[in-house]
Amino acid sequence: MSPRPPHPKTLFLLRALREKTIDERLALLKTLDELSVPERVEVALQLLEAMNETHGHATGSHAAHVLSEHGGGLELDRLRATRPRLPAFEGLRDWRWNVDQAIAAIENRAAGRCECHAAQALGQGPDDKVFREVSSSVADFGATITLACRACARECLVERDDSYHYPTFRWR
Ligand SMILES: [Zn+2]
Repeated sequence: MSPRPPHPKTLFLLRALREKTIDERLALLKTLDELSVPERVEVALQLLEAMNETHGHATGSHAAHVLSEHGGGLELDRLRATRPRLPAFEGLRDWRWNVDQAIAAIENRAAGRCECHAAQALGQGPDDKVFREVSSSVADFGATITLACRACARECLVERDDSYHYPTFRWR
C-alpha cells in the first residue's frame, strides 16, 4: 500500500493546530465540514495518522467523530494501524475511546448491520440519535431502561448503574 500524498487541508490544519488555543482549534476543525464527505474522511484520517502530543485530544476526537459518521471499509486498515500509535493525553476519560468507537462503527457499517448493533457492543450510555427510550424502571443500583432503535425498531435492555461516581451501563 503506497502512502497517499497529504491533502492540502491536512497540512494547513496540522500547522495551525499546533499553535492555537483549544477554542481556536475547534473553530479550525469546523472548517472540515466545508469539504466533501470523501475529502473530510481523508483529512480526518490523515490528522489521526499524523497526531502527536502537540495537537491535543480535541483534534483527535473530532477526527474520530468524522470517521465514525462517514468512514467506510476502505479506511478500516489505516485506522486500525494508527490506533496503537496515538498519543495518550491526561484526562478523566481516554480520548482514544473515540477512535475505538469509529472502528466499531465502520466495521458494523461494512458488515451491513444497523448502527444500533455497534452502539450496543460499545457498552456506553445510550445515544439519543440512535435510540429512543421506550420505558424505564427504577432499580436498586440505578435504572433498567428499554430502548428501541430509531432506524430498525429493534429493542434493547440496558441497566444504568449509579453506584459509582459517574453512571455505568450494562447492556442485555
Ligand atoms: Zn437498529
